[in-house]
Formats: sequence, C-alpha cells, structure tokens
Amino acid sequence: MTKNPLTWFSTRATRQDQPIPATDQVRNGAGGHAWAVDDWTRLRRFLILGVDGPSYYASERQLVKENADAVLRCIAADGPRTVDEIVGISVAGRNPKQQPVVFALAACAAADDPDTRARALAALPTVCRTGTQLFLFAGYVEQFRGWGRGLRRAVASWYLDKDPDALAYQLVKYQQRDGWSHRDLLRLAKPRPERGGATDLALAWAVGKVGYDLDEAPALLRAHRAASLATSPEQTAALVTSTGLPWEALPSEHLRSDVVWRALIPDMGLGALVRNLARLTSNGTLAPGQEATETVVHRLTDAEQLRRARLHPIAVLAALMTYRAGRGTRGRQPWEPVTAIVDALDEAFRLSFGNIEPAGKRTLLALDVSGSMGMGVVAGVVGLTPRIASAAMSMVTLASEPSVDTVAFTSVGRGAWVSPQGTWRFGNTKDGLVPLTLSKRQRLDDVVRTVSDLPFGGTDCALPMLYALDKGRAIDHFVIYTDSETWAGGIHPSQALRRYRERTGLPARLTVVAMVSNGFTIADPNDAGMLDVVGFDTAAPQLMADFAAGRL
Ligand code: CA
Repeated sequence: MTKNPLTWFSTRATRQDQPIPATDQVRNGAGGHAWAVDDWTRLRRFLILGVDGPSYYASERQLVKENADAVLRCIAADGPRTVDEIVGISVAGRNPKQQPVVFALAACAAADDPDTRARALAALPTVCRTGTQLFLFAGYVEQFRGWGRGLRRAVASWYLDKDPDALAYQLVKYQQRDGWSHRDLLRLAKPRPERGGATDLALAWAVGKVGYDLDEAPALLRAHRAASLATSPEQTAALVTSTGLPWEALPSEHLRSDVVWRALIPDMGLGALVRNLARLTSNGTLAPGQEATETVVHRLTDAEQLRRARLHPIAVLAALMTYRAGRGTRGRQPWEPVTAIVDALDEAFRLSFGNIEPAGKRTLLALDVSGSMGMGVVAGVVGLTPRIASAAMSMVTLASEPSVDTVAFTSVGRGAWVSPQGTWRFGNTKDGLVPLTLSKRQRLDDVVRTVSDLPFGGTDCALPMLYALDKGRAIDHFVIYTDSETWAGGIHPSQALRRYRERTGLPARLTVVAMVSNGFTIADPNDAGMLDVVGFDTAAPQLMADFAAGRL
C-alpha cells in the first residue's frame, strides 16, 4: 500500500487494460481499451477489407454480423449517403473484392425508405459492371427482399440499357456463377426489347432459344458459334484476334494451347491476366525473351491501363505471392517464375495506387507484428495475413515520401512466434520494437520475407511514440498499421502521442491504418491530429499524405 494512493490515477498515462478516464473508450477483443469506430468508418472498413474468415479475436460469423449490423445502421441513419459511399468506393476501384460492396448495395435495395431503394437500384449497373457481379447481387438481394416490381425493372434495365455489343460480351463471358445464370435473371426480370432487334436476339441467345438467325445478332455471338465449331487452336486463335472473344467463351480443349493464349494476351482483362500468369508460364507461353512476355510486362507496367482496369493492389500482391513461389495450391504443374514478370508485378503493385503527392513530412511507419496480426487473411487471399499486408502497404508510403523510417513492434517482455518452418518459438522481446531497414528500392517479396521472420508477442501500440521520444527522433507523422487490439502497455497510444507532442514541441500526427474489419481504433476521435484509414484502400496513401501535410 502506498502512502499516497491518489498518485496512481492519471489522465495522462493510463494502463491499456483500463479505459482512459472520462472518455468513451470500450473494451477491445484483446481485453485492452480503445475507441469504437463510428458506423461510417465501420462501413468503409467493411466495404474495403470485407470479412474473409475469422480474425484472431472474432469468429467469421461474429464479424459478418457486426459488419452487416453496421451497414443496416448506416442505411437507417442515411440511406442515400450509404448508397453514395458504396458507389464512390466501387467506381474508384478502392475495394479489392466485390462481395462486400455488392452485399451492401443489395441491403440498400431493400431499405424501408423508397428513395434509398430507388437510388440503390439505379446504381445497379454502376456497381455491378459485369455479369458475375450481377449474379452476386441477385443472390444477396434475396437475403433482404423479394422480386418486386422495382427490382425486376432494375435488372431488366441492366440488360436493356447496354449497347448490344457490350451486352453480347457480358453474355458470352459470364454465362453462370454462384447458382445463377442469365436465363434465371431474364425469366425473373422479363425485359422487353424491341422485337427482332440486336438486343432481342442477344437475349434469345442467352436463354438458349434456337432456330433464329444470328446474322442480325451482335457479331460476338457469331464468333462464339464459330469458336464452338473451330477444329484447331489456330482457328480459335485467329477468331480471338479478329473478334476479341474472351477466354471464357473458348472451347476448353483449345485453352491448353499456347497459340490461343498468345492471341488472348494483348486484350484480355488485366485481372484475368494476373490470375493466369502461372498457367501461362507452365504451358510455355511466357518464357524469358518471348514476345508474349514483353507484352505482359508492358501491360502490367502501364499506369493508365492499370487505372482503367481498376486492378487492385491486393490482386497484384496475391498474384506476386503465388507466382514467385513457382507452385500452386491445387496440385497444379510447377513453373519456373520468369524474372521479368516478377519485376513487372512488383512495379504494378506500386503503380496500382496511382500517383501520390507526398506530404514531405518526417514519417515513422510502425508495423504491429503482434500475434493477432499473423492470423486471418486479408481479402480472402491465402497466406496474406494482416502482418504481411501491412508490410506491403507500408512500401507505398515508403516509396513516395522522402523521409521515412520503418519499425516493427509488439510488446515488451516474453513473446512467442511461429518460425518460418511453422513451429512455435518463445523468447524475450527486450524492447518490443525493432527498426526495419526497409528501402524503397527493396522488392516486395523481400519485404514480405523480412516481416515474416520477426518474432511476435503481445500488443502495445504506444511503443512507436515512446521509441521516438526515447531516441530523440523528430517525427511529424506516425503511421501505425494495426488491428487496434492493443492491451499490453502502461500508457495508451493517444496519451503517448500527447506526451511526445508536449516534450518535443512538435505537433505530431498519427494515422491508424486498420488492417482488420473490427470496430476498434486507437485514434482518439476527439483529436483532429489523429486519423483512421482503411488498410488496402487504394485511396489511403494519398489520404494519409494529405492529412500529414495538413491539406485535409
Ligand atoms: Ca495483437
């Protein structure tokens, strides 16, 4: 017992297992205390990070429920704004996966408020740009409502408002998915095109009506028929080159031929291209010095093409992680990765964030490498843990800012980690924080390897600020990549930042980059010098730079 018991209470240094006095902090999943994010922040986290499997602290079901509840609360609070958030993120390609965005749009299409429903249905072709996305929507929307007149009309318009050639492309490319086909949707929606017109013929083709003349139908449908009759890969390849038939519309036996793939490479979607790099290498289409290899490299490093295709950095990172391994997960033929392709993916990753106007501030990037960050997957990509995703994300800011240092932190004391061989190891993390010698010229796969090998233990998100103070480092902008499940320290991160500001006189700012779609943040919502962004939002690096520079 101390003689002076009042000394233990402080609003300036509070143990993380206690809430900061007189704030609305809540208990996080780890038993520490943080702030609950507001529903709009939660919505953005959901739309961009999604829910793919459990996190370290919550089951997949629990995360789905929490996120879906937040979506419904946003719709109840301001339905039109919810639709606008969804559309904005989708149009800018900020989301790595389509499921969360389409799910949220489906929920809006069932809102009580008629304006919200109308706005959501009007946005259907904007958010669901492909047949696959439309099928996804059809499945989700049934979880919220029935096929009333408004929904039927919106789906009918999806087909009728397209130029017939663009419609034909959707019809041959995406014939069915997730238990839905165009035939199913056309039967429900009953669109009424002009009789005998190109759209009418295209829709008749989609529902399998035979005995009509394709001469008046969009050219791609004739090409599709010709491909189904093609007797050699060379014939199929010639059709691809002359008509732009997508690979999904080709006879599968011809897809084993590199002649066909060489014809596809110049125009196929970039998303499909990066997913097929392994296949293209194992079948010999991509080899060092080949013209096809040069074409792929050129396409992957063309910033304008990347932007138009909305190729998300997560898709590039997933492709890079698989491709450089030289073997697939489903017993596929191994391949010898082509160095030029690995390099091109590395560059494509950076380019896919667009041009970033730097803040020009002294920046400390701090990666939470505690145990929880090594579990779970980001955007459904096998092997892409929040820890690895953070490292990749940090490279974008590292490459764009002139003055950056990077550290990895866990907590002080005994910790455990999984070695690269997959066995648990234990040891002491004396400082709980290690400087990382990352360079902007370093390759992404090398960076991933560096962070994969670090030990991890508890979580103390105050360590980056305490470290900077201890080492006398002048920092304008702290960036912490974390799940905000902090619990191990004697002072909260927001208090450590204030202590740093007081002692150095620098008006340092803090950005929290959320790497898990949970409801917590270490950023004090009442401090304008702290910002929450969503990890793997393609808009996040620019947002962070603008915040650091005071441009927000
Ligand atoms: Ca943790």
